[in-house]
Amino acid sequence: MIGLEVSHVSYSYGKSKALHDVSFSVENGRFCALLGPNGAGKSTLFALLTRLLATGEGKIGVAGFDIAREPRAALARIGVVFQQPTLDLDMSVRRNLRYFAGLHGLSGRPAAVAIEAALTQLGMAERADEQVRALNGGHRRRMEIARALIHGPQILLLDEPTVGLDAASRLAITDHVHQLAESGLSVLWATHLVDEIRPTDQVVVLHRGKVLSDGRAGELAGGQGLAKAFLSMTAEDREIVT
Ligand code: ADP
Ligand code: MG
Repeated sequence: MIGLEVSHVSYSYGKSKALHDVSFSVENGRFCALLGPNGAGKSTLFALLTRLLATGEGKIGVAGFDIAREPRAALARIGVVFQQPTLDLDMSVRRNLRYFAGLHGLSGRPAAVAIEAALTQLGMAERADEQVRALNGGHRRRMEIARALIHGPQILLLDEPTVGLDAASRLAITDHVHQLAESGLSVLWATHLVDEIRPTDQVVVLHRGKVLSDGRAGELAGGQGLAKAFLSMTAEDREIVT
């Protein structure tokens, strides 16, 4: 079953074209990395997927719902972690999540159950009563991912979720999100870091607003490794240090 379907999507900011005829799909249970250097158009695509921007050209399907025609049904099935953290630092983890559950119409016992389950999935259950301000960056990010799961989405979108984190936190988060994909979610993970991608993951390479390739990471890497394959595809952007 296809969770997310992006079909011939283009988008321009005024005269500058940020996305050119972008098409790919992500099946349920798949971890798909949207791999591209800065300026590739990753966040622009995320804005279209979450309706922060209205679709220019093309079609976006979420769990079978057309996001332009049935935005409510489509958005209800999306969980999103944006590039910029959005947490209330002075509230506890649980209160932050309860507030967000309320926005989705969940309260009381069902909210408590959903919050507990989401925190457990991210290995954060024992931190539920801590103030967010006291958490390190990695735990804050895990909490944001837990928050994105509370309303039971089928598609999870994460825009460069490990930026600024140390290696151990990056690894923990990457592992957790791969597990979420294995449990049946369609995951779209925007990144410019090849070490977050596993050979069996789907990789969509985005460069200057265009999809350059779409397939299994292991196949894209070939004998040379994913880092080299990615660099050679996007070579014009490589900085030459002398
Ligand atoms: P990424 O997330 O892959 O770094 P973005 O989607 O942020 O890429 O940017 C894609 C292109 O669109 C870049 O050239 C960027 O400068 C441009 N861009 C992004 N946001 C805006 C905006 N609000 N107005 C004009 N241009 C923008
Ligand atoms: Mg971005």
